[in-house]
Amino acid sequence: MHPRYEVVIGLEVHAQLRTSSKLFCGDSTRFGAEPNTQVSPLTLAHPGTLPYLNREALEHALRMGLACGSSISRRSYFARKNYFYPDLPKGYQISQHHDPVCLGGSIHIQLSDGISKDIRLTRIHLEEDAGKSIHDQDPSQTLLDYNRAGTPLIEIVTEPDIRSAEEAFVFLTEIRKLVRWIGVCDGNMEEGSLRCDANISLRLHGDPRLGTRVEVKNLNSIRHVRRAIEIEVERLAVILDAGAIVRQETRSFQASDETTFAIRTKEDADDYRYFPEPDLPPFHITEDWLDRLMSSLPSLPEVMIARFQHEYGLSEYDARQLCEEKDLCDYFLSHLPATDHAKPFANWLLGPVRSLINERGGEWVLLNISRDEWADLLLLVSSGRISFSSASQHLFPRMMSADGRLPSDIAAAEGLLQDAGGDEIEGWVEQAMQSMPDKVLEYRKGKKGLIGLFMGEVKKLSRGKADPRKTQEILQKKLNAAS
Ligand code: ADP
Ligand code: MG
Repeated sequence: MHPRYEVVIGLEVHAQLRTSSKLFCGDSTRFGAEPNTQVSPLTLAHPGTLPYLNREALEHALRMGLACGSSISRRSYFARKNYFYPDLPKGYQISQHHDPVCLGGSIHIQLSDGISKDIRLTRIHLEEDAGKSIHDQDPSQTLLDYNRAGTPLIEIVTEPDIRSAEEAFVFLTEIRKLVRWIGVCDGNMEEGSLRCDANISLRLHGDPRLGTRVEVKNLNSIRHVRRAIEIEVERLAVILDAGAIVRQETRSFQASDETTFAIRTKEDADDYRYFPEPDLPPFHITEDWLDRLMSSLPSLPEVMIARFQHEYGLSEYDARQLCEEKDLCDYFLSHLPATDHAKPFANWLLGPVRSLINERGGEWVLLNISRDEWADLLLLVSSGRISFSSASQHLFPRMMSADGRLPSDIAAAEGLLQDAGGDEIEGWVEQAMQSMPDKVLEYRKGKKGLIGLFMGEVKKLSRGKADPRKTQEILQKKLNAAS
């Protein structure tokens, strides 16, 4: 929290929708193609071409609205936003102005201090993306790639409800999770699938009026958003402290040196000469259609988090972790051997399995371990036939190579089981005691904590084959014997 000023932030988030073709024509939206190869006369707005609406894109926008609890406009239409910029082949952008597809709604965020709040959404509307200006490939010229022009976007606009750079960070993380969860956007910020403009203003604590805002554009990573807000808050505070006036302007964030600079004074909606798009009729959304979309939506993260706690007895922390990604959540549900295995199974997935997947850059769906194998593995550990550390470090990596053998067979073949008999363990215990006679004396004088030392020694001597429970029993018996 800033000592003198309250920070007020509203975000405009652009998410590229996951469709194979553009918003108003059949050109491909594939990322990374040769420049200007996905540009039919429709994308370039040649005379005589007419746009037609991509149904899948509209459905994605509606899905997002439903997931955020927005109210859905039953009748909606497009508007032309007129401006000149080289990356805009039409000379205008087809967007929405009045009656956007979704109004209102909210996103629930949970901050690290445990406090949670709802960030209200103003609207979600559909619009087309512009092309790309490339400034860094030719020393004297700006190059243009129109492949991206016409790619479907939703713009998610928040109310000025965000109060810190950290809240903005959490909000965007939540948005990215949600768009991925419901499958409307791949959430890939490096490829520009999710971009954000941040509107920032300061006011004195307790002042009900909003201060003059600046809008920072060009934010293509969640970290950059946080950093840019921190920088702007400091800059605005200096201006206000000096008694000067903040100018409403649009600024750009430069990641290389973490600075922002003014690119233009703020334009008003009037400057864009919005008018209803004459080439596209208004569109209607029927109840029936909405019902079908609603029932095809997966259960949302918050619902799953609650279910994991109530149905499976998991802690809120574990439940949230499992719901960080839909793939992980789905994997848990489809591979959990039995309800009473939920806790150890969650530990496996969130611990060794997740590390391995991150390490190998893999995906949960590719994890080639069946439910039967999981059942066998969990039982091996819970019955004490193998230690968790040995199972996760040695057995699990071998299971990944998937030759179809059950973990218990692999463990037996590789000598990983703690299957030494009582006689063998007694032998190791005696060896351990003989090697540290002074510690035996100390133990017998009352330093009971030393048992851990002997346990470790037996583990070493047995190379992990001594079941710790049996070992402890025998150790206690022998250590206490002559005292
Ligand atoms: P535009 O930027 O297109 O003119 P709006 O005026 O509707 O659109 O505002 C866009 C965003 O700016 C919204 O997220 C809104 O919450 C936020 N916003 C508006 N006024 C302020 C303010 N004084 N301080 C911080 N954010 C603001
Ligand atoms: Mg704006």
